[in-house]
Amino acid sequence: MMNNNETGNCQCGLISYSFDKKKVISAHHCHCKDCQRATGSGKATILFIAKKYIEINGDLKFYESKGSSGSHIRRGFCPNCGSGVLSYANEISHILYLKAGTLNDSSWLTIDSNFFTKSANDWNAPDESIKCFEGNPGIMSGIKTLLKSF
Ligand SMILES: [Zn+2]
Ligand SMILES: [Zn+2]
Repeated sequence: MMNNNETGNCQCGLISYSFDKKKVISAHHCHCKDCQRATGSGKATILFIAKKYIEINGDLKFYESKGSSGSHIRRGFCPNCGSGVLSYANEISHILYLKAGTLNDSSWLTIDSNFFTKSANDWNAPDESIKCFEGNPGIMSGIKTLLKSF
């Protein structure tokens, strides 16, 4: 049988996690300015996964800010090394947005779409071969209904 267990951790290892990669809902590049600041790069690459399917070890510290659609985004990072590990919207807190760069092996990952292409930088231009959303893809509207089923 194939082993679908995937693991990841922050830079220092205080925070680690594991999940079944078959449970990943979708994956996205987010070019919003908050993701640029939080990652110190052109975008964040995130995996949507239901909280019940991921086991997290260690206590993340959270920074909360208001998203463009009015939701409250909580960004979780390691209190020791500062690595951003995951975030979620308080209003849909059963879905986590796991930062792909913290995966031990992300070779299996395919990205479904780009968020917030309007704030993308020329030096990190969105991949136009996949679906592009100018701003928020509707986490608070259409996708919210879809995500409720997970
Ligand atoms: Zn750490
Ligand atoms: Zn973002």
